[in-house]
Amino acid sequence: MKTEICPMTTKEERRPAILRAAKLLREGKLVAFPTETVYGLGGNGLDPQASSRIYAAKGRPSDNPLILHISDRSELSPLVKRIPEAAVRLMDAFWPGPLTLIFEKSERVPDESTGGLNTVAVRFPSHPVAQELIREAGVPVAAPSANLSGHPSPTTAEHVAEDLSGRVDMILDAGPVEIGLESTIIDVTGETPLILRPGYISLEQMREVLGQGDFDPAILGKPDPNLRPKAPGMKYRHYAPKAELTIVEGDTEAVVKAIAALAGEKKALGFRVGILCPEESRGRYDASLVKTVGTRADEKTIAHNLYRCLREFDEEEAEYVFSEAFSDGPLGAAIMNRLVKAAGYRVLPAGGEDENLS
Ligand code: AMP
Ligand code: MG
Repeated sequence: MKTEICPMTTKEERRPAILRAAKLLREGKLVAFPTETVYGLGGNGLDPQASSRIYAAKGRPSDNPLILHISDRSELSPLVKRIPEAAVRLMDAFWPGPLTLIFEKSERVPDESTGGLNTVAVRFPSHPVAQELIREAGVPVAAPSANLSGHPSPTTAEHVAEDLSGRVDMILDAGPVEIGLESTIIDVTGETPLILRPGYISLEQMREVLGQGDFDPAILGKPDPNLRPKAPGMKYRHYAPKAELTIVEGDTEAVVKAIAALAGEKKALGFRVGILCPEESRGRYDASLVKTVGTRADEKTIAHNLYRCLREFDEEEAEYVFSEAFSDGPLGAAIMNRLVKAAGYRVLPAGGEDENLS
């Protein structure tokens, strides 16, 4: 299959490309498109064959359900059995935007899109290209992140092409996405609303709107065979960099010293080494090893650049990467959720013993 890449820089380019993409979706084909979180790999969410094609293109396990994307709140009710009060309040506050909600699914939603679950995940994205595409397609668009399973989510069309060229019909290229991490997923089917995947919408923001809510306990720590995450996808490691990635956490001064020493040791042994750090401490490390992920003064920049930096370390075939921890601030939970998984839970306390190393 030849993958057509459509630039969306000018209005003249944009409209005809979206119309062709919408037609492809209606025909059961696959189109990658930008959203405000990451690029999505879209197919008709009501067409079981299109869903199967998505799983095949990504190499994704079929028990890992898809998120259905809509372009107006009126498109929600046909997909779900009921809309709980908590969902209404969250939608009023955060839709369109980087928030996915879990509902009991209606009969219209095929089992193939939900990995056999009787619930369905729905999101109304804010990106204008995503909205126009879904509206023109006239169907809910099932769209997981547009990467090969096990790679970092794509934040540019080039990342999508690296992974999926020849596996999808079209890629709409609207430049780098804004947020850079996947949506927050909240389950509103139970008594207490639960965050199944942390994202740009934080626990604090959810509690401000609902006056309650928690993280799904299974997503907080290392995988525990007794705790199964409610979002099936969260049980996968998601992304394992080629390098052995280690996160060092603790007091800033101790972290900088520990990373400089660890990186120096590996470099002296002849390994290709990388360091992931914020603007604030970049000057403290060997300049040839450093990638600056963003600034602690604005943690959105860290979320925005994280996956790109991890992909770059892979391209450069780094063998060891050491990263500072980024747990502060409301986005800390989302950033660390991705980074800690990428590190295979290898988190080292600066200045302490190695007991947390796995
Ligand atoms: P991705 O599309 O790659 O961002 O992954 C979608 C995420 O949503 C995965 O972690 C899924 O497990 C989760 N998800 C999708 N549908 C459901 C559902 N019905 N219940 C719980 N989690 C879901
Ligand atoms: Mg994904």
